[in-house]
Amino acid sequence: MNQLFSDRIADVPQSFIREILKIAIDPSVISFAGGLPNRTLFPVDAIREAADRILRTAGGEVLQYSNSEGYRPLREWIAQRYRERQGLEIAVENILITTGSQQGLDLLGKTLINDHDPVVMEEPGYLGAIQAFSLYRPRFLPVPVHEAGMNIDRLQDVLRTAEPRLLYTVANFQNPAGITYSEANREAVAALLKGKRTFLVQDDPYGELRFSGQHQRSFAYYLPEQTLLLGSFSKTVVPAFRIGWIVAPDRLMEKLVIAKQASDLHTDFFAQRVLYQYLQDNDLDAHIARITEVYGRQRDAMVQAIENHFPAGVHATRPEGGMFLWVTLPEGVSSMHLFEQAIRDKVAFVPGHPFYIGRTWTNDLRLNFSCVDDKSIAIGIERLARALALQVQAA
Ligand code: PMP
Repeated sequence: MNQLFSDRIADVPQSFIREILKIAIDPSVISFAGGLPNRTLFPVDAIREAADRILRTAGGEVLQYSNSEGYRPLREWIAQRYRERQGLEIAVENILITTGSQQGLDLLGKTLINDHDPVVMEEPGYLGAIQAFSLYRPRFLPVPVHEAGMNIDRLQDVLRTAEPRLLYTVANFQNPAGITYSEANREAVAALLKGKRTFLVQDDPYGELRFSGQHQRSFAYYLPEQTLLLGSFSKTVVPAFRIGWIVAPDRLMEKLVIAKQASDLHTDFFAQRVLYQYLQDNDLDAHIARITEVYGRQRDAMVQAIENHFPAGVHATRPEGGMFLWVTLPEGVSSMHLFEQAIRDKVAFVPGHPFYIGRTWTNDLRLNFSCVDDKSIAIGIERLARALALQVQAA
């Protein structure tokens, strides 16, 4: 028993990425380790103008406390966006503004998970979700993903012996693997969950960042009664606002609002008002088109450099959107060992194991392409290929 801290905090995995980012901060290191949007694309002037305008027109009102559900016009904007972009009818009352979608994960843990409750995680999966849910001490049931979605046979096996509280997925341009669930896969996952007391969480911060391929229908279309949607402005506008949202049915919304009040009363009201003003005065679609143009080019540069330089037997995903791709090394080659070599060669990435439950090493790794320009991508991948050739030879 730990004397000083709660049992709850004792089992939570440390953020390995934080350690890596400390190393990757050395300017001579080309870092594919980050998970950040590209800040050269932030709409700085437009945000300055929005802040200025809202302070001039609304004054102290925007600096006051506000309600826990969030600024209603912003919630209406989100409902309208679901209608236009995805053909989903979502009532404003079912949208809760959260302090980033990361808080959405925490609130779902608070309201839905008791100790040892089964929770299905796609694997590899977003380590921030593993961390957020870990505080509520679930029994994680990992289900592997492949390039077209979840392993259906494994999910079926898992559901034979457990009725999970949640199934967590980033079905579009997944963090970390960059994969997207096909519609057939979504349909199959939904069919297995239908009628169970399980919520499917579709965490979708990257969904609007598509640079090739076809839109895939939301899980809300296949499993409307049981799907919880998480959204975020972090990747489409800026992360510093810390504005995200949860879409949930009435019965859960009531509990989420209580949990939200207990956590932080409400999300930064000034940030909500500046963001809303920004959305009123600017063309978000044009802004997103600029982002996807740049990220798409950087994805191409990375995929091309990998094809040119990586040794045979190494596989990489080719994401149709988002910020990451996933590399699988030959069996038995540790990405942690590769990491140590790569750092000596001045290139960084995130080894795969933090994206799994309870692993200390794996033969895969995540590469970020949103923050590194085309030229540095080419140089960095070449450096990585050299380190990789040494590891593959040694294995
Ligand atoms: N979910 C996923 C899959 C993410 O990649 C991230 C950010 N890295 C988040 C949630 C959290 O995003 P935010 O809190 O900024 O909305």
